[in-house]
Amino acid sequence: MRPISQLEVEIRAKAMLKLKRDGLLFAEEIMDRGSPYFNDRPRFAMDRYEFDMCCECKKPFYVGTASTECEETNTSPETVKCQKCISASEEVILGAFKIKNF
Ligand SMILES: [Zn+2]
Repeated sequence: MRPISQLEVEIRAKAMLKLKRDGLLFAEEIMDRGSPYFNDRPRFAMDRYEFDMCCECKKPFYVGTASTECEETNTSPETVKCQKCISASEEVILGAFKIKNF
């Protein structure tokens, strides 16, 4: 058996949290015996949600729901940032403006 990496554990935990927030802990796909996700919430959550790696804090973050027409990513992995880091860098810029008295 392949050991699960810390990253996978983190992504799975985040996916599960998102699933809970979306009120999908008892989704049809999980409750239906004929579904491939029957009784397998982590797998359902991992397949449903897309996660990316933040280049700044090196943590996985939620980018959206996995969809079939998902071809919109033109961003290179080195520039992908989570919301937290984006707003942090905006604050730095704002702070710089304040110092310069704009
Ligand atoms: Zn980040």
